[in-house]
Amino acid sequence: MFISTHPHFFNNTTMSIQANLNEVLATLPSHVQLVAVSKFHPIEALQEAYDAGQRIFGESKVQEMTQKYEALPKDIAWHFIGHLQTNKIKYMAPYVAMIHGVDSFKLLSEINKQAAKVNRCIPCLLQIHIAQEETKFGFTFDECREMLGQGEWKELTNISISGVMGMATNTDDEEQIKKEFQSLSDFFNEIKQEFFSDNESFKEISMGMSDDYPFAIEAGSTLIRVGSKIFGERIY
Ligand SMILES: *Cc1c(COP(=O)(O)O)cnc(C)c1O
Repeated sequence: MFISTHPHFFNNTTMSIQANLNEVLATLPSHVQLVAVSKFHPIEALQEAYDAGQRIFGESKVQEMTQKYEALPKDIAWHFIGHLQTNKIKYMAPYVAMIHGVDSFKLLSEINKQAAKVNRCIPCLLQIHIAQEETKFGFTFDECREMLGQGEWKELTNISISGVMGMATNTDDEEQIKKEFQSLSDFFNEIKQEFFSDNESFKEISMGMSDDYPFAIEAGSTLIRVGSKIFGERIY
């Protein structure tokens, strides 16, 4: 059993991380990868998932992710899934494997600038607003079409746009959730055809969390971001 003294961690479970992880992995088709969302959980929890074979972790705060990056083995792929602040990009630029939540050209070009300084090309996902809730970040479909249509992103050689990311409405209405995931999948296909048809790295659809990832996979997700189902509940 996993015991933690981390202040944000609320350990109300006796499940093992390894068993939870295997339960999620057992249901994944081979074209779908798991981002284990470890935000607010302590190093020991991530180490347990690592020891069980997990290599992709998702974090939502740059400072927290950097501390974990420094403490844990270097073959981990760190995915940043939080809301981006321009002044924090430089701290993760040297090591981040993918940035999921990019929702403006300004952010793309800032990531590009910081990536250039460390001689890297950072894979980024365009975050699209697909949910009904107003609080979520992201481009609308039209804002994203417009940004891509302007074409300036093609000059950013230190980022690669690797796909799209979205979050469904937090609701029990399964039809609503399925509809939203399908809309992101359709949008991915649309912009793939229009802007990325000769670009093999544009291939990811990041959607699906603990409560809805089976629907996301049905709709074509290639990256699911699952936290509480693996690590237990968190308070934030
Ligand atoms: C926290 C978070 C997740 C994981 O949520 P769970 O419900 O714990 O699986 C996935 N994606 C994003 C963007 C998150 O912030």
